Amino acid sequence: MRDFIRFLPNARDALFRICLSPSRQEQVGLLLGDDTDVRHVVALTNLRPVIQGHGFRIAQGEIDRLRDAHSGHTVLGRFHTHPNTSARPSNSDIASLPPGWCEVIVRLSGRWQAPQVAQIHGYCGADVPISVMFQERAA
Ligand SMILES: [Zn+2]
Repeated sequence: MRDFIRFLPNARDALFRICLSPSRQEQVGLLLGDDTDVRHVVALTNLRPVIQGHGFRIAQGEIDRLRDAHSGHTVLGRFHTHPNTSARPSNSDIASLPPGWCEVIVRLSGRWQAPQVAQIHGYCGADVPISVMFQERAA
């Protein structure tokens, strides 16, 4: 099992772009790459109605399509945002994480119209913490 994952610069940019887009819903998506390196970050559609509050619901069909579109890479895991709540995974987060995947939870602070990153938490399996690293862009 991995004890860290590392975002390459373009993947890091995509992660923050998706997580910081103004929304009343949690943002969710896939982490793709190989071994420990996240090379692509792609958004998934959160199908959970806003009125139901926190949480997300995603369609397996959309995951399968994105996986096929990036067939040269492995799905390393999932990410999603926690607006104004702890970056710790909920019981349903842990229960819904497919075997072998890692998850990165980005805790947001501030108003939904202009969110900021407050904390980042990574884990694998049944809530085993991992380090989340970001590779610097070469000067
Ligand atoms: Zn969650």
